[in-house]
Amino acid sequence: MERKFVTNLRKQLVKMHQKGPHFGSALSAIDIISVLYFNIMNIPSAHHPDRDRFILSKGHSVSALYTVLAEKGFINKEKLDEYLVNGSTLFGHPKKDSVPGIEASTGSLGHGLPIASGMAIAAKNDKKNYKIFVLMGDGECQEGSIWEAAMLASRLKLDNLVVIIDANNLQGFDIVENVQPISTFKAKWEAFGWNVKESNGHDLNKLTEILSNIPFKAEKPSVLIAHTIKGKDIAIAENKMEWHYFSVSKDKADAFIEELNEKI
Ligand SMILES: [Mg+2]
Repeated sequence: MERKFVTNLRKQLVKMHQKGPHFGSALSAIDIISVLYFNIMNIPSAHHPDRDRFILSKGHSVSALYTVLAEKGFINKEKLDEYLVNGSTLFGHPKKDSVPGIEASTGSLGHGLPIASGMAIAAKNDKKNYKIFVLMGDGECQEGSIWEAAMLASRLKLDNLVVIIDANNLQGFDIVENVQPISTFKAKWEAFGWNVKESNGHDLNKLTEILSNIPFKAEKPSVLIAHTIKGKDIAIAENKMEWHYFSVSKDKADAFIEELNEKI
């Protein structure tokens, strides 16, 4: 996958986020989600019993997932225009089976990993080889339910379970490092029995290389701390907390598209 591919998805997100918030969050996550769907996961069809599973635990970035599902052909590209429109099934947070490819309802933070752990246990019980991938926010790691699941996953040796943390060092109302330091993430996850790797979360080749070798270590769940930039590739939105909430105003949209075109 070339950089042009994800830049085009960002252009789509500029369009969609004229209707609602979390533009910066979607730009933070889009590269990771694209790599998973196009370079890593095996998903022959949306309901194939042996497919790899993806859970977007930081559900507010769902617009990024919709654009990728449209590229995969699970939903029509024209349907993306229905994002956040009344009566549409393209909601602002994932709702299980609202469209093909949405595996779990999320948005209340901290739920994705517990759900994924259950799926990983089920796969083991059924002697299936599929893997379960979960994308979580760095601020989300402050939820207690994450650590309950993290303890269980390592005790049960769920080496079919992979967490990717979209570590943009921003959360709703502060810098994550001020609240619960990201710099301690590696030691914390290791203490909970996980094998940990770190990467630039926008380097498509690096992400692909690391995520191609799951599990990172036999009989352990894997976690990749992917260092990202909220609002990535739109200069005025990069690393700005307010772009967690901002939508794209009509007068900014054209300039954003132009800025992205210059990157192609
Ligand atoms: Mg964050």
